[in-house]
Amino acid sequence: MVLGAAAGWLLGPAATQIQWVGDLFIRMIRMLIVPLVFVTLVSGVTSIPAPAKLGSIGLKAMALYLATTFVAILFGITGALTLRPGRGVTLEGVAAAAPLSEPVPLGERLMAIVPENVFAAFASGDILAIIFFGILLGAGLLTAGETARPLSRLFQAGSSAMLRITHIVMEAAPIGVFALVASVMGSEGPSAFITVFWLMFVVYIGGALHMIATHGGMVRLLARRPLLGFLTAAREPQLLAFSTSSSAATLPATLEAAVERMHVGRPVASSVIPLGATINMDGTALYVAAVAIFAAQIFGVPLGVGDYATIAFTTMLVSIGTASVPSASLFLMAAVLEVIGITPEQTALVIGFLLPFDRILDMWRTVINVTGDLAVATCVAAIEGELNDSSSDIAAIDLIG
Ligand code: ASP
Repeated sequence: MVLGAAAGWLLGPAATQIQWVGDLFIRMIRMLIVPLVFVTLVSGVTSIPAPAKLGSIGLKAMALYLATTFVAILFGITGALTLRPGRGVTLEGVAAAAPLSEPVPLGERLMAIVPENVFAAFASGDILAIIFFGILLGAGLLTAGETARPLSRLFQAGSSAMLRITHIVMEAAPIGVFALVASVMGSEGPSAFITVFWLMFVVYIGGALHMIATHGGMVRLLARRPLLGFLTAAREPQLLAFSTSSSAATLPATLEAAVERMHVGRPVASSVIPLGATINMDGTALYVAAVAIFAAQIFGVPLGVGDYATIAFTTMLVSIGTASVPSASLFLMAAVLEVIGITPEQTALVIGFLLPFDRILDMWRTVINVTGDLAVATCVAAIEGELNDSSSDIAAIDLIG
């Protein structure tokens, strides 16, 4: 990113010649989203071991995931309303458009989660519909027993392959980011970074506050663990999340930290952490909610209480539907912008505006996403009596004995 900024600065408008390299990188990421979400989700559901306890673990994890995501959305909305990152941003000379068209009614959006035609949902990249079908298919495979086993195994193989491809594509991230930043810097000059500064501020400071107050507070309250100890144990997956911008790529490190450093029991860690990596994205939720307000500020769309509720609800759905790969939420946020009356053309402008900076925002929101998974896993383990304090291991063994 820094080299790209320097190159763009030196080359000026000529740097836009390499814009296609960045576009190619984004195309590769977009290519991954549908198959990656579908295959990893189905294989995730089919690998649930299924003892009775799993239901109660799953319910508690879901409740905490939804609650923490909701708080993250509040941080995003409050931050964007307070700091007003969209004030004065004009999107390459585009004048603020008048508030428009009827937003799609919520009932209709909810209805659309159930695909009428699964193949149409795949073809149009309708993530929520794909997730809905994926969960059903996974549940079907899980309950169909022995006959369905070969297909479950196929999905597991497909899931490893897709994660591998994701990893390969991510290797190209530095080149893609270099090209994207250089071409923006070349055509816009450094003022482009100044316009995005306040949005970055909302995401970074809001995310940090959420991590300290919500995650830290929850772990302290439910698991009686101090914030500092928790963050120290979470350090490795956090660093990996920061450098890969992908919760999926971080998953092995997150699991390891949960089991080895936080002493979360394996039944909890192996079910709660992968579920979280797929559906729990606090940093993403904070970001998407903040961008919705940001876009409304740019285009002068007035927002009422009902709109904030709609933003919160659709952001929740989008954060659940976001694939755990770099920049995934950047393309899904269109759903949230749409419900508050931002046109597809305006949405395209907002996404185009954010694209070159998305990586640096993504690095931090992925850290928040992964930290949220670890906090919830720790708390569910504590509630379920599956949190083994290393110092009390001997006492536990004594008790069992
Ligand atoms: N990169 C994020 C993650 O993997 C998702 C996103 O917000 O784009 O957790």
